[in-house]
Amino acid sequence: MGRSFDVVVIGAGPAGYIAAIRAAQAGKSVACIDEWKNKDGKNAFGGTCLNAGCIPSKAMLESSELMHRAQHEFKIHGINTGPIELDVAAMQKRRASIVRQLTGGIAGLFKANKVEGLVGHGKLLAGKQVEFTPVDGEVEVLTAQNVILASGSSPIELGIAKFDDDRIIDSWGALELTEVPKRLGVVGAGVIGLELGSVWARLGSSVTVLEAMADFLFMADRDVANVAAKEFRKQGLEIKLGAKVSSAKASKNGVTVSYEDANGSQSVEFDKLVVAVGRKPHTDNLFADDAGIQTDERGFIVVDDECRTRVKGVYAIGDCVRGPMLAHKGSEEGVMVADIIAGETAEMNYDVIPSVIYTSPEIAWVGKTEEEVKASGRAYKVGSFPFAASGRAKAMEQTSGMVKMISSKDDDEILGVHIIGPMAGELISEAVLALEFSASTEDIQRTIHAHPTLAEAVHEAALAVDNRALNYPNK
Ligand code: FAD
Ligand code: NAD
Repeated sequence: MGRSFDVVVIGAGPAGYIAAIRAAQAGKSVACIDEWKNKDGKNAFGGTCLNAGCIPSKAMLESSELMHRAQHEFKIHGINTGPIELDVAAMQKRRASIVRQLTGGIAGLFKANKVEGLVGHGKLLAGKQVEFTPVDGEVEVLTAQNVILASGSSPIELGIAKFDDDRIIDSWGALELTEVPKRLGVVGAGVIGLELGSVWARLGSSVTVLEAMADFLFMADRDVANVAAKEFRKQGLEIKLGAKVSSAKASKNGVTVSYEDANGSQSVEFDKLVVAVGRKPHTDNLFADDAGIQTDERGFIVVDDECRTRVKGVYAIGDCVRGPMLAHKGSEEGVMVADIIAGETAEMNYDVIPSVIYTSPEIAWVGKTEEEVKASGRAYKVGSFPFAASGRAKAMEQTSGMVKMISSKDDDEILGVHIIGPMAGELISEAVLALEFSASTEDIQRTIHAHPTLAEAVHEAALAVDNRALNYPNK
């Protein structure tokens, strides 16, 4: 018989490692099992987010943004440089080093919080036992009072464009390219397609994004999506909407992609093709048939609002369960479940989860879009403020975009905030807090915002809801 723990977590991504630390902080004995292996063959904690998702993509977005600004903006500031040269190897070394530091940091956090970090495969057996197969060593069957499944997700593969790790690649492959492809194709104008398409476009690729839907960024507020489409096209991203890819054939010289759109059958050649059409829950060999875990028709582990599975004492969190596939959503579920295990009352507000797309300009929102509010039948008011009227944005040379705020007509409660512009991902936090506290636009109107800051645009948008904007003409 193997060791016994109060809590065994399978998966050390942002959902699992946070759950493990929170449970240990409550005095529980905790083990966290993870099998992630990087392309260098080394195991690392942190899951998709730290190794192949949020963090490396933001490292590459930052580097490529600097390249773009050096090429196009320095002159405006009166800074003349010689020709700007790109060293992709150095850029990639920096990305890898950031990832290494942060994933190593989790190992350190586990030690500090007395979480037993176990490297290898975990499988839930019947009776809350967990079979642990280490990378090297003997299989051990752990006994747990509580088990948390946090196995994450993996990219969806298209049958007509199978990944070959060379010409047809997934988002992880696209993050670790060693040279700039001349012609880059991207299937899917979702979050990954736009973020990674932006990275390589800024570094010099000619990027074409093929999106099946007719609407651009269908999940975003229409006003924001329209500004975004205009901005991205201005930056040289070719975005083809209503494009149904029918085949992708890799050869020695590239990839030939055939698709249908409103103009009929088309064919286009790329050097690399990134397929980013969504992700699916990863539950391979995660639980035994008799463990009692149920999955839905799309493969997600079925859980209730508190992330309980059908088996008492077994929970599931993060990308492997319903809800948006976002690191912060998974982490908060981890906190909630650890607190429930510790005997506390805990819940998650699924209505107030911020979304951020780290393009330039950034896009961020929380709450309902105007279209959703309209469809709900609730009477509402809208105010918006353009960054072109913000002194700070002007000083930053980043005046594209706006803040848009929607509140209910009856009691002024804020229903949604939508931002496209500089640092939108940082600015949205004020709105998230406002929605969490059911604030009104008047609450924000009467809150002092430092000058000159980008946050003043949020303040002005709140004022604009009541036609009281001070630094921009009202409707
Ligand atoms: P994961 O991070 O996928 O971690 C699951 C872990 O469990 C993995 O390490 C896996 O190896 C391990 N595992 C699975 N099964 C087993 C098993 N049986 N035994 C042992 N170990 C197992 N989200 C954001 O919020 N912001 C972003 O900016 C963002 N950017 C992204 C960029 C890209 C390119 C991608 C691909 C994703 C991005 N995401 C972003 C999404 C984010 O990465 C995921 O929502 C998040 O990682 C989910 O966390 P998780 O803990 O549920 O799963
Ligand atoms: P996504 O769901 O954001 O976008 C996929 C896009 O592909 C959609 O627009 C869809 O209409 C399109 N599509 C689907 N099938 C297609 C086909 N056959 N041909 C053409 N287009 C097709 O998925 P993603 O971009 O792969 O990202 C996966 C997940 O990772 C998302 O859920 C996202 O939340 C998460 N993520 C988040 C961030 C962030 O928070 N900044 C960044 C990257 C990824």
